[in-house]
Amino acid sequence: MELVKTVREIRTSLAPLRRRGARIGFVPTMGYLHEGHASLIRAARRENDVVVVSDFVNPTQFGPNEDFARYPRDLDRDRTVAAAAGADFLFAPSVEEMYPDGAGQFFVDVGPLAGHLCGRSRPGHFRGVATVVTKLFNIVQPHVAYFGQKDYQQALILRRMVRDLFFPLRITVYPTVREPDGLALSSRNTYLSPTERQEAVVLYQSLQEAGRSLAAGERDATRLRHRMEEVVGRADSSRVDYIEIVDPLTLLPLERVEKPALFALAVFIGKTRLIDNALFDPSGKELSADELFNRTWSEWE
Ligand code: AMP
Repeated sequence: MELVKTVREIRTSLAPLRRRGARIGFVPTMGYLHEGHASLIRAARRENDVVVVSDFVNPTQFGPNEDFARYPRDLDRDRTVAAAAGADFLFAPSVEEMYPDGAGQFFVDVGPLAGHLCGRSRPGHFRGVATVVTKLFNIVQPHVAYFGQKDYQQALILRRMVRDLFFPLRITVYPTVREPDGLALSSRNTYLSPTERQEAVVLYQSLQEAGRSLAAGERDATRLRHRMEEVVGRADSSRVDYIEIVDPLTLLPLERVEKPALFALAVFIGKTRLIDNALFDPSGKELSADELFNRTWSEWE
């Protein structure tokens, strides 16, 4: 695997491969790679001739009081994890390389999907995400890009962006990888104290509780949300940012679950903000985001 730090180098490396007809799979990340990232890299390895992983903590998707400066970084470890999972190139540019004119002038305006869930608590976040992903897509020019369902709203927004702006690539969404107790893997889990780490499992448990309540016949979103709040409240260190049950394509709140619904939550465990989600049909069966998106938008290729 080759470590590449400049736009010029990655373009020079990929151009001849693309010309020879190689199919390029791309996994954008912010580094501090874990098994969730590795599962995306392995999927890209299975489905493509060339696998590119980007490793870039993007400043424009962090708010002024967020954790940009202390976000965990470990390029040496990322090299090992990415290589073991089958990456051919690890693209790890500096902030100056990605934003040569400082904050830059052009941004991607996401529209109404950025006004819900995490977008409400983190104004500007998805604008930063859509902008950096656009830059990365233009640099790497992949055939397929891989994202995790763990960041459902991000995956939805990027699927819509690719469709609405006619990006010539496909986005595939893979399921959330979890610890044995159910906690979704996240680079931010490293912020948790041992007690907080134990308590953090309430996010997953609240989603399981929602699934069980649906299976028992509950359809009322307010009551389902209360059940989830109750489970989250069992952790002393928890403070709810949001718990919502929404339409999985518009992200608008549902009053009743009569069709597939996204159950999404963001919870502070101590000072660390964690997110999780699940897509359920009304019977409580879990659905895959990728299937739902594919059913909704059959993209060209
Ligand atoms: P990040 O480095 O957190 O920006 O994540 C990079 C990519 O990995 C995104 O597409 C995430 O959705 C995905 N990802 C992060 N955590 C997980 C996980 N636990 N399971 C699956 N994918 C994940």
